[in-house]
Amino acid sequence: MARERLHILVVGGSIAGLFAALALRRQGHAVSVFERSATTLDGRGAGIVTHPALFALMREVGLAFVPDDLGVSVPGRRVLSPSGEIAGERALPQILTSWGRIYRLLRSGVPEADLHHGKALLRVDDRAGGVVAAFADGTQAAGDLLVGADGLFSAVRGQILPLAQPLYAGYVAWRGLVEEADLSAPTRDRLCDRFAFCLPPGEQMLSYPVAGADEAVTPGRRRLNFVWYRPAAAEDALPRLLTDRDGIRHDLSIPPHRIRPEVLDAMRADAHRLLAPPYAEAVARSPQPFLQAILDLETPAMAMGRVILIGDAAFVARPHVGMGVTKAMADGAALARALAAEPDVPAALAAFDAVRRPVGAAVIARARALGAYMQAQGLSPAEREAAERHRRPEAVMAETAVATPDLL
Ligand SMILES: Cc1cc2nc3c(=O)[nH]c(=O)nc-3n(C[C@H](O)[C@H](O)[C@H](O)COP(=O)(O)OP(=O)(O)OC[C@H]3O[C@@H](n4cnc5c(N)ncnc54)[C@H](O)[C@@H]3O)c2cc1C
Repeated sequence: MARERLHILVVGGSIAGLFAALALRRQGHAVSVFERSATTLDGRGAGIVTHPALFALMREVGLAFVPDDLGVSVPGRRVLSPSGEIAGERALPQILTSWGRIYRLLRSGVPEADLHHGKALLRVDDRAGGVVAAFADGTQAAGDLLVGADGLFSAVRGQILPLAQPLYAGYVAWRGLVEEADLSAPTRDRLCDRFAFCLPPGEQMLSYPVAGADEAVTPGRRRLNFVWYRPAAAEDALPRLLTDRDGIRHDLSIPPHRIRPEVLDAMRADAHRLLAPPYAEAVARSPQPFLQAILDLETPAMAMGRVILIGDAAFVARPHVGMGVTKAMADGAALARALAAEPDVPAALAAFDAVRRPVGAAVIARARALGAYMQAQGLSPAEREAAERHRRPEAVMAETAVATPDLL
C-alpha cells in the first residue's frame, strides 16, 4: 500500500530542519518549516569538518555539489610541540567547510513557500490523529506530526521532556577566525595547510583552514579557524568568564562584543605562555574571539506520540567528534525512511526512535571520552587515567572529528 501523503510541521529552519524537509519532500510529503529567526541564518560563521557520510546524505536528498568546492581540502593532521616544532603527523584527507556553506546548500533545495520565518514555537498539542503548533505571533498550524529541529534549547523538548537539560562539561571553547593574510609566513607554513593541534596539559588547541569571507579557497585568501578548549570550574572560573562588561552574568555563552577586555587580555597572555608560538600569534590576531561553554545533552526519547526530536534538539555531543551536522542530517534521513516503511505514524516514529537513539547516545559517549581529560572536575583518579589516553598526540590525531561506523 502506498504511504499516504502527510503534512509534516518542522520547527527550526537550520541544518536539521532543512535537511529533514528535503528528505521528507522527496518521499512526497508536504512539509512546512517554522523558524524563529525573522531572517535567513546565513551569518553563523563556524568551521565544520566534513565526512564522506555527510556528502552521501546530501546526495541522498538530491543536492548537486562538488565536495572540493565546499571548502578547503587538507591532506592530513599535525601536532605542534610547545616550541612550535612539528611533533607528529598523520595522513587524513578531509574537506573543511563552514556552517554557512552547508546551510545555503540545504536552503537552496527547499521552496520558499515551505519556509516560514519569524515563527517561534510556544506549544505543541498532540491530539488524536494529528498535531497543532502554536506560535508566539498568535498563529497556529495543524499537521500529521511535528519534528522538533529547534536546537540545544529546544522548545519542543522543553515541553515533551522538560527534565532533559544540557549539562556543563567543565570546560569552555575559545573560538576565533583569523585572515590568513594577517599571519606571518612561518605561522601560515605551520598551520594553514593542515588540521593542526597543540596540547598543553589539560587543554587542547586545534585549527584548520576555512574559506575566506568571499568563499575564496586559494592560499593567502583563506581564514584560519581555531578552537581552544580550556578547563573552567563551574563555581568560579566559568561565571568570571561569562560576566560581561556591565557585570551581567550570562548563562552558557556570551555575545563576543560583551566579553570583558581583561578576560580577553588574560586569555591572550595565557596563549603566549601555554601555546606553540604560531597559535599565540593566531590568537593575538583574531579580531573577535568568542567563548562557548561545552555541554552534553542526552534525551531519554526522540519520539513521543506524534512529536519527535532531531539534531541538536535531541543530542548535543562535545565538539570533538565533529558529528553534529552529519548526525542532524542522518536523523532526518532515518525519519523519512521510517515513515516510508510503516504506515502508522506513531509506530513509524517509535521505529525511528529505536534506530537513532542508540546512535545519538554513542556519539555523546564517544565525545565525552575524547574530552574527559579537559574537565575541570568530577573525575576519579581511574577515570582521569583513562581520559589521559585520549590526550596523546597520536590519539588526538587519529580520533578527533573522525566518523567511525558506530557513530553514523
Ligand atoms: C565548538 C563547536 C564546533 C563544532 N564543530 C562541528 C564540526 O566540525 N562538524 C559538525 O558536524 N558539527 C559541529 N558542531 C555542531 C553543529 O554546529 C551542530 O550540531 C548543528 O549546527 C546542529 O544543527 P540543528 O539544526 O540541530 O540545530 P541549530 O543549528 O541550533 O538550529 C536550531 C534552529 O531552531 C531555531 N529555533 C530555536 N527555538 C525555536 C522555536 N521555539 N521556534 C522556532 N524555531 C526555533 C533556531 O533559531 C535555529 O535556527 C560544532 C559545534 C560547536 C559548538
